[in-house]
Amino acid sequence: MADAGTIRFLGAAGTVTGSKHLLTLNGQRVLLDCGLFQGLKALRLRNWQPLPFDAAGVGAVVLSHAHLDHCGALPLLVRQGFRGPIYCTPATKELTAIILLDAAHLQEEEAEIANRYGYSKHHPALPLYTTEHAEAALRLLEPRGYGTPFRVTKDVVTVYRRAGHILGAATVELQLDAGTPRRLVFSGDLGRWNRPILRDPELVPEADVVLVESTYGDRVHSTDATDALARVVRDAVRRGGALIIPAFAVGRVQELVWTLRHLEETNAIPTVPVFVDSPMAIEVTDFYCRHTEEHDVDMALLLDAKRNPLRSREHRLVRTATESKALNDRSGPMIIISASGMATGGRVIHHLKARLPDDRTTVLLPGFQAAGTRGRALADGAREVRIHGRSVPVRATVVTLDGFSAHADRDEIVRWLSGFRHPPKRVYVVHGEAQAADSLAATLRARFGWDASVAEDGATVALPS
Ligand code: ZN
Repeated sequence: MADAGTIRFLGAAGTVTGSKHLLTLNGQRVLLDCGLFQGLKALRLRNWQPLPFDAAGVGAVVLSHAHLDHCGALPLLVRQGFRGPIYCTPATKELTAIILLDAAHLQEEEAEIANRYGYSKHHPALPLYTTEHAEAALRLLEPRGYGTPFRVTKDVVTVYRRAGHILGAATVELQLDAGTPRRLVFSGDLGRWNRPILRDPELVPEADVVLVESTYGDRVHSTDATDALARVVRDAVRRGGALIIPAFAVGRVQELVWTLRHLEETNAIPTVPVFVDSPMAIEVTDFYCRHTEEHDVDMALLLDAKRNPLRSREHRLVRTATESKALNDRSGPMIIISASGMATGGRVIHHLKARLPDDRTTVLLPGFQAAGTRGRALADGAREVRIHGRSVPVRATVVTLDGFSAHADRDEIVRWLSGFRHPPKRVYVVHGEAQAADSLAATLRARFGWDASVAEDGATVALPS
């Protein structure tokens, strides 16, 4: 007798990071995403606890996309005994390799710095995982294209569709063959319509159960992101100092550069040097140019005209740490785009440490800043932040812009959900902080009369039969 199956929420439930949802059906287990927790310390500490299920008993992982909060715990899963395939789109496979190796490297480096300066409570401080662990996970990646169903376990078939969020990002449809045939649809991270570079999200026609993200479930993005960026750049140039933009290396850096190039060409901003200070962003930009199957019309036209849409006029790629440090000696207006996007690590930390105390500096936060991150503290108007165990005064002007978000806003999430031909039986709202998730669930109940609620962290729920 086939069971109806269950889903267990093990991350990104009531929060935006640590995406992990475990489907169990007739003894087969499929893990949707395997992301790292980021932000608040209480969340980050969860990365250090053993995963709360038998990793060896999971038959397959289905990844939605390559962001660290969706793939960053794969090395831990493999270390704990998982040996099955990790399915992802071809572009996600390439990006995941860069992202996991970079994460492992950063963790090794952080442990080393903590040991050198002695500010860790642990002696010696250890990395969460190493390059070797990351490589073991990467060997299990199995690329599958959009739109073609593929079987992941005996009773589960997957279909990927474009999510429009970052290169390779997909929504995941799981067709459950056991008992009554049902469809479980996971939004992954939803992107947006009419944005540069990538194609729009694709609608999904059928769903019985939906897991939908809610990062911006309570908000509508401002529509004039391009104009707003132009104003920020002009103001920053007038202040005479650097404009520092902490940005995710995947997606955000490319969209920012695309827009800066466009603003230069339309004379909306003066030409100033733009330093892309992130080896990962530089590598990812090459992938963005190469994966032509993901390009929207504008991107394709520019490339056809032999123009590089992802270069500004005075474009400088900063590859080595020495070149990055040398930027500290440079004065005058310039734009420094550097990772990480929430200023939790990476080279942008050094730029902030050097330039936050200078009132000529402008810091632009172009994306979502999770609670507990330095980026969030800056966005909330902190007058000092801690960097490398020291307090750094903030005299710089800090500006936030949500128009560059790679995430759908409330109306765009609703637009995607409107693609279902029949109302789903059950909707679980995931991947949002409490207010955003509650608000989206309420919107779906009021607007569509759907049975929608916020997924509860750690809960196991039965799938409707
Ligand atoms: Zn994402």
